[in-house]
Amino acid sequence: MYIGVDLGGTGIKAGLVDEKGNILHKDSCPTRAMEDYKVIVADMADLIKKVLNDTDTNTSEIKTIGIGCPGSIDDKNGVVIYANNLNLHDAPLAEELKKYYDVPVYVSNDANCAALGEFFALDDENITDIVAITLGTGVGSGIIINKKIFTGTNGIGGELGHTVIKANGEKCTCGRNGCWEAYASATALIREAEKAAKENPDSYLAKLVAENGGKANGRIPFAATEKGDEAGKKVIDKYILDVAEGIVNIINTFQPHAIVIGGGVSNAGDALLKPIEEYSKEHCYGGIFQTKISIAKLGNDAGIIGAAFLGK
Ligand SMILES: [Zn+2]
Repeated sequence: MYIGVDLGGTGIKAGLVDEKGNILHKDSCPTRAMEDYKVIVADMADLIKKVLNDTDTNTSEIKTIGIGCPGSIDDKNGVVIYANNLNLHDAPLAEELKKYYDVPVYVSNDANCAALGEFFALDDENITDIVAITLGTGVGSGIIINKKIFTGTNGIGGELGHTVIKANGEKCTCGRNGCWEAYASATALIREAEKAAKENPDSYLAKLVAENGGKANGRIPFAATEKGDEAGKKVIDKYILDVAEGIVNIINTFQPHAIVIGGGVSNAGDALLKPIEEYSKEHCYGGIFQTKISIAKLGNDAGIIGAAFLGK
Protein backbone atom coordinates (compact mmCIF):
# COMPACT_ATOMS: atom_id res chain seq x y z
CA MET A 1 0.00 0.00 0.00
CA TYR A 2 0.99 3.60 -0.54
CA ILE A 3 0.39 7.02 0.98
CA GLY A 4 -0.31 9.97 -1.31
CA VAL A 5 -0.26 13.53 0.00
CA ASP A 6 -1.67 16.52 -1.85
CA LEU A 7 -0.19 19.66 -0.31
CA GLY A 8 -2.12 22.75 -1.33
CA GLY A 9 -2.18 26.41 -0.36
CA THR A 10 -5.24 25.98 1.87
CA GLY A 11 -5.34 22.29 2.75
CA ILE A 12 -3.31 19.10 3.08
CA LYS A 13 -5.00 15.89 1.87
CA ALA A 14 -3.60 12.44 2.55
CA GLY A 15 -4.89 9.10 1.30
CA LEU A 16 -4.13 5.42 1.71
CA VAL A 17 -3.92 3.99 -1.81
CA ASP A 18 -3.88 0.33 -2.79
CA GLU A 19 -1.85 -1.35 -5.54
CA LYS A 20 -4.63 -0.73 -8.08
CA GLY A 21 -4.91 2.99 -7.41
CA ASN A 22 -8.02 2.95 -5.24
CA ILE A 23 -8.14 5.39 -2.33
CA LEU A 24 -9.11 3.24 0.66
CA HIS A 25 -9.36 6.17 3.05
CA LYS A 26 -8.49 9.85 3.01
CA ASP A 27 -8.47 12.78 5.36
CA SER A 28 -7.43 16.41 5.33
CA CYS A 29 -6.30 19.30 7.51
CA PRO A 30 -5.66 23.01 6.93
CA THR A 31 -2.27 24.12 5.60
CA ARG A 32 -0.49 26.56 7.87
CA ALA A 33 0.80 28.12 4.68
CA MET A 34 2.91 30.91 6.12
CA GLU A 35 4.76 28.66 8.59
CA ASP A 36 8.17 27.05 8.20
CA TYR A 37 8.35 23.79 6.21
CA LYS A 38 9.05 21.87 9.43
CA VAL A 39 5.64 22.88 10.79
CA ILE A 40 3.93 21.88 7.55
CA VAL A 41 5.68 18.49 7.51
CA ALA A 42 4.79 17.90 11.19
CA ASP A 43 1.10 18.53 10.33
CA MET A 44 1.48 16.21 7.35
CA ALA A 45 3.00 13.48 9.53
CA ASP A 46 0.09 13.80 12.01
CA LEU A 47 -2.43 13.55 9.19
CA ILE A 48 -0.74 10.42 7.80
CA LYS A 49 -0.74 8.91 11.30
CA LYS A 50 -4.48 9.55 11.53
CA VAL A 51 -5.10 7.88 8.15
CA LEU A 52 -3.02 4.86 9.22
CA ASN A 53 -4.76 4.61 12.61
CA ASP A 54 -8.25 4.97 11.13
CA THR A 55 -7.56 2.07 8.77
CA ASP A 56 -5.61 -0.10 11.24
CA THR A 57 -2.62 0.04 8.93
CA ASN A 58 0.93 -0.46 10.14
CA THR A 59 3.76 1.70 8.78
CA SER A 60 5.53 -1.52 7.72
CA GLU A 61 2.72 -2.11 5.19
CA ILE A 62 3.48 1.20 3.42
CA LYS A 63 5.85 0.88 0.44
CA THR A 64 6.31 4.56 -0.32
CA ILE A 65 4.96 8.01 0.54
CA GLY A 66 4.58 10.63 -2.17
CA ILE A 67 3.90 14.35 -1.86
CA GLY A 68 2.44 16.55 -4.59
CA CYS A 69 3.15 20.25 -4.13
CA PRO A 70 2.58 23.33 -6.29
CA GLY A 71 5.65 25.20 -7.53
CA SER A 72 9.13 24.23 -8.67
CA ILE A 73 10.33 20.93 -7.28
CA ASP A 74 13.69 19.15 -7.33
CA ASP A 75 12.15 15.67 -7.73
CA LYS A 76 15.50 13.89 -7.43
CA ASN A 77 16.20 15.24 -3.95
CA GLY A 78 12.62 15.74 -2.77
CA VAL A 79 13.15 19.47 -2.30
CA VAL A 80 10.63 22.24 -2.96
CA ILE A 81 12.73 24.91 -4.66
CA TYR A 82 9.98 27.50 -4.64
CA ALA A 83 6.24 27.44 -3.95
CA ASN A 84 4.78 30.87 -4.07
CA ASN A 85 1.51 30.38 -2.14
CA LEU A 86 3.18 28.23 0.52
CA ASN A 87 6.18 30.35 1.44
CA LEU A 88 8.50 27.42 0.73
CA HIS A 89 12.06 28.04 -0.44
CA ASP A 90 14.58 25.19 -0.81
CA ALA A 91 12.49 23.12 1.61
CA PRO A 92 13.71 19.48 1.95
CA LEU A 93 10.24 17.93 2.42
CA ALA A 94 11.30 14.33 1.74
CA GLU A 95 14.20 14.39 4.20
CA GLU A 96 12.01 16.03 6.87
CA LEU A 97 9.10 13.55 6.50
CA LYS A 98 11.56 10.63 6.71
CA LYS A 99 12.24 11.73 10.29
CA TYR A 100 8.68 10.55 11.04
CA TYR A 101 8.41 7.53 8.75
CA ASP A 102 11.17 5.14 7.78
CA VAL A 103 9.76 4.77 4.26
CA PRO A 104 11.01 6.09 0.88
CA VAL A 105 9.50 9.57 0.34
CA TYR A 106 9.08 11.24 -3.06
CA VAL A 107 8.06 14.80 -3.96
CA SER A 108 6.86 16.18 -7.29
CA ASN A 109 4.85 19.05 -8.70
CA ASP A 110 1.09 18.68 -8.09
CA ALA A 111 0.15 18.89 -11.80
CA ASN A 112 2.70 16.18 -12.55
CA CYS A 113 1.21 14.01 -9.79
CA ALA A 114 -2.27 14.50 -11.24
CA ALA A 115 -0.95 13.47 -14.66
CA LEU A 116 0.63 10.34 -13.19
CA GLY A 117 -2.65 9.51 -11.44
CA GLU A 118 -4.59 9.86 -14.69
CA PHE A 119 -1.95 7.75 -16.44
CA PHE A 120 -2.48 4.86 -14.03
CA ALA A 121 -6.26 5.34 -14.24
CA LEU A 122 -6.12 4.67 -18.01
CA ASP A 123 -4.96 1.19 -16.98
CA ASP A 124 -3.81 0.17 -20.46
CA GLU A 125 -0.45 -1.57 -20.79
CA ASN A 126 -0.07 -0.37 -24.38
CA ILE A 127 -0.10 3.24 -23.20
CA THR A 128 3.27 4.60 -22.07
CA ASP A 129 3.14 8.27 -23.09
CA ILE A 130 0.40 10.72 -22.13
CA VAL A 131 -0.09 14.42 -21.58
CA ALA A 132 -2.63 15.55 -18.98
CA ILE A 133 -3.91 19.10 -18.96
CA THR A 134 -6.14 20.89 -16.47
CA LEU A 135 -8.39 23.70 -17.66
CA GLY A 136 -8.99 25.59 -14.43
CA THR A 137 -7.94 28.94 -13.02
CA GLY A 138 -4.81 28.38 -15.13
CA VAL A 139 -3.80 25.66 -17.55
CA GLY A 140 -1.90 22.96 -15.67
CA SER A 141 -0.01 20.25 -17.49
CA GLY A 142 1.88 17.06 -16.81
CA ILE A 143 3.84 15.01 -19.31
CA ILE A 144 4.37 11.28 -18.83
CA ILE A 145 6.97 9.71 -21.12
CA ASN A 146 7.76 6.02 -20.87
CA LYS A 147 5.55 5.82 -17.76
CA LYS A 148 7.62 8.49 -15.98
CA ILE A 149 7.02 12.19 -15.27
CA PHE A 150 9.01 14.42 -17.61
CA THR A 151 10.25 17.58 -15.86
CA GLY A 152 13.18 18.81 -17.96
CA THR A 153 16.70 19.02 -16.55
CA ASN A 154 15.81 21.26 -13.62
CA GLY A 155 12.40 19.97 -12.57
CA ILE A 156 10.29 22.83 -13.88
CA GLY A 157 9.74 21.80 -17.50
CA GLY A 158 6.46 20.71 -19.03
CA GLU A 159 4.64 24.03 -18.56
CA LEU A 160 2.52 23.75 -21.68
CA GLY A 161 0.15 26.46 -20.46
CA HIS A 162 2.94 28.97 -20.88
CA THR A 163 3.71 28.33 -24.51
CA VAL A 164 2.52 31.18 -26.69
CA ILE A 165 -0.28 30.61 -29.21
CA LYS A 166 -0.63 34.29 -30.15
CA ALA A 167 2.28 36.73 -30.24
CA ASN A 168 1.46 40.01 -28.46
CA GLY A 169 -1.82 38.45 -27.35
CA GLU A 170 -3.61 38.56 -23.99
CA LYS A 171 -1.49 39.21 -20.90
CA CYS A 172 -0.65 36.01 -19.01
CA THR A 173 -0.12 35.59 -15.26
CA CYS A 174 3.49 34.58 -15.99
CA GLY A 175 4.34 37.96 -17.48
CA ARG A 176 4.36 36.89 -21.12
CA ASN A 177 1.70 37.78 -23.66
CA GLY A 178 -0.40 35.33 -25.63
CA CYS A 179 0.24 32.15 -23.59
CA TRP A 180 -2.10 29.21 -24.15
CA GLU A 181 -3.25 29.69 -20.53
CA ALA A 182 -4.46 33.22 -21.34
CA TYR A 183 -6.91 31.67 -23.87
CA ALA A 184 -7.65 28.13 -22.69
CA SER A 185 -8.08 28.54 -18.92
CA ALA A 186 -11.49 28.78 -17.27
CA THR A 187 -10.44 32.31 -16.33
CA ALA A 188 -10.12 33.18 -20.04
CA LEU A 189 -13.48 31.58 -20.87
CA ILE A 190 -15.16 33.59 -18.09
CA ARG A 191 -13.45 36.81 -19.26
CA GLU A 192 -14.71 36.35 -22.83
CA ALA A 193 -18.22 35.33 -21.72
CA GLU A 194 -18.56 38.47 -19.59
CA LYS A 195 -17.29 40.60 -22.46
CA ALA A 196 -19.78 39.03 -24.89
CA ALA A 197 -22.65 39.42 -22.41
CA LYS A 198 -21.90 43.13 -22.16
CA GLU A 199 -21.75 43.53 -25.94
CA ASN A 200 -24.95 41.52 -26.46
CA PRO A 201 -27.29 42.63 -23.67
CA ASP A 202 -30.34 40.95 -25.28
CA SER A 203 -28.70 37.53 -25.55
CA TYR A 204 -29.53 34.47 -23.46
CA LEU A 205 -25.87 34.53 -22.41
CA ALA A 206 -26.35 38.04 -20.95
CA LYS A 207 -29.48 36.83 -19.13
CA LEU A 208 -27.60 33.92 -17.51
CA VAL A 209 -24.72 36.19 -16.52
CA ALA A 210 -27.15 38.74 -15.03
CA GLU A 211 -28.93 35.99 -13.07
CA ASN A 212 -25.56 34.97 -11.67
CA GLY A 213 -24.97 38.41 -10.18
CA GLY A 214 -23.28 39.82 -13.28
CA LYS A 215 -20.53 37.18 -13.21
CA ALA A 216 -19.99 34.39 -15.71
CA ASN A 217 -18.59 30.97 -14.85
CA GLY A 218 -17.25 28.06 -16.87
CA ARG A 219 -20.70 26.51 -17.32
CA ILE A 220 -22.73 29.55 -18.42
CA PRO A 221 -21.43 29.95 -22.01
CA PHE A 222 -21.88 26.19 -22.62
CA ALA A 223 -25.43 26.38 -21.22
CA ALA A 224 -26.26 29.38 -23.46
CA THR A 225 -24.89 27.53 -26.50
CA GLU A 226 -27.07 24.51 -25.72
CA LYS A 227 -30.10 26.80 -25.92
CA GLY A 228 -29.00 27.99 -29.35
CA ASP A 229 -27.78 31.40 -28.20
CA GLU A 230 -25.58 33.02 -30.84
CA ALA A 231 -23.46 35.12 -28.45
CA GLY A 232 -22.77 32.07 -26.28
CA LYS A 233 -21.93 29.94 -29.30
CA LYS A 234 -19.43 32.52 -30.55
CA VAL A 235 -17.63 32.51 -27.20
CA ILE A 236 -17.57 28.70 -27.06
CA ASP A 237 -16.46 28.25 -30.68
CA LYS A 238 -13.56 30.65 -30.16
CA TYR A 239 -12.63 29.11 -26.80
CA ILE A 240 -12.65 25.57 -28.16
CA LEU A 241 -10.57 26.63 -31.15
CA ASP A 242 -7.96 28.10 -28.78
CA VAL A 243 -7.94 24.95 -26.65
CA ALA A 244 -7.68 22.81 -29.79
CA GLU A 245 -4.72 24.79 -31.16
CA GLY A 246 -2.81 23.91 -28.00
CA ILE A 247 -3.90 20.26 -28.22
CA VAL A 248 -2.62 20.03 -31.80
CA ASN A 249 0.68 21.54 -30.64
CA ILE A 250 0.90 18.77 -28.03
CA ILE A 251 0.14 16.08 -30.62
CA ASN A 252 2.72 17.50 -33.04
CA THR A 253 5.35 17.69 -30.31
CA PHE A 254 4.84 14.40 -28.48
CA GLN A 255 2.52 12.18 -30.56
CA PRO A 256 1.38 10.77 -27.19
CA HIS A 257 -0.86 7.71 -26.89
CA ALA A 258 -3.37 9.81 -24.98
CA ILE A 259 -4.26 13.34 -23.92
CA VAL A 260 -6.42 13.63 -20.81
CA ILE A 261 -8.35 16.84 -20.17
CA GLY A 262 -9.35 17.72 -16.60
CA GLY A 263 -10.31 20.77 -14.56
CA GLY A 264 -13.66 22.50 -14.13
CA VAL A 265 -14.21 23.20 -17.85
CA SER A 266 -13.88 19.47 -18.63
CA ASN A 267 -17.32 18.97 -17.02
CA ALA A 268 -18.67 20.13 -20.39
CA GLY A 269 -17.81 16.60 -21.62
CA ASP A 270 -18.55 15.86 -25.27
CA ALA A 271 -19.45 19.50 -26.01
CA LEU A 272 -15.75 20.18 -25.45
CA LEU A 273 -14.23 16.87 -26.49
CA LYS A 274 -15.89 16.24 -29.86
CA PRO A 275 -14.95 19.52 -31.57
CA ILE A 276 -11.39 19.26 -30.20
CA GLU A 277 -11.10 15.76 -31.66
CA GLU A 278 -12.45 16.90 -35.00
CA TYR A 279 -10.09 19.87 -35.17
CA SER A 280 -7.11 17.74 -34.13
CA LYS A 281 -7.89 15.10 -36.78
CA GLU A 282 -8.02 17.77 -39.42
CA HIS A 283 -4.99 19.81 -38.41
CA CYS A 284 -2.37 17.56 -36.84
CA TYR A 285 0.91 17.31 -38.72
CA GLY A 286 1.00 14.84 -41.57
CA GLY A 287 -2.65 14.01 -40.98
CA ILE A 288 -1.58 11.27 -38.58
CA PHE A 289 -4.03 11.31 -35.69
CA GLN A 290 -3.48 8.41 -33.32
CA THR A 291 -3.88 10.16 -29.98
CA LYS A 292 -6.82 9.19 -27.80
CA ILE A 293 -8.31 12.33 -26.26
CA SER A 294 -10.48 11.86 -23.19
CA ILE A 295 -11.90 13.59 -20.14
CA ALA A 296 -10.00 12.99 -16.88
CA LYS A 297 -11.47 10.27 -14.67
CA LEU A 298 -10.13 10.98 -11.20
CA GLY A 299 -11.14 14.58 -10.56
CA ASN A 300 -9.67 15.96 -7.35
CA ASP A 301 -8.32 12.55 -6.31
CA ALA A 302 -5.77 12.46 -9.16
CA GLY A 303 -3.22 14.36 -7.06
CA ILE A 304 -3.36 11.90 -4.14
CA ILE A 305 -3.23 8.81 -6.36
CA GLY A 306 -0.41 10.18 -8.53
CA ALA A 307 1.61 11.23 -5.48
CA ALA A 308 1.13 7.77 -3.98
CA PHE A 309 2.58 6.21 -7.14
CA LEU A 310 5.60 8.53 -7.51
CA GLY A 311 7.90 5.73 -6.41
CA LYS A 312 6.14 2.98 -8.34
ZN1 LIG B 1 2.13 32.39 -19.37
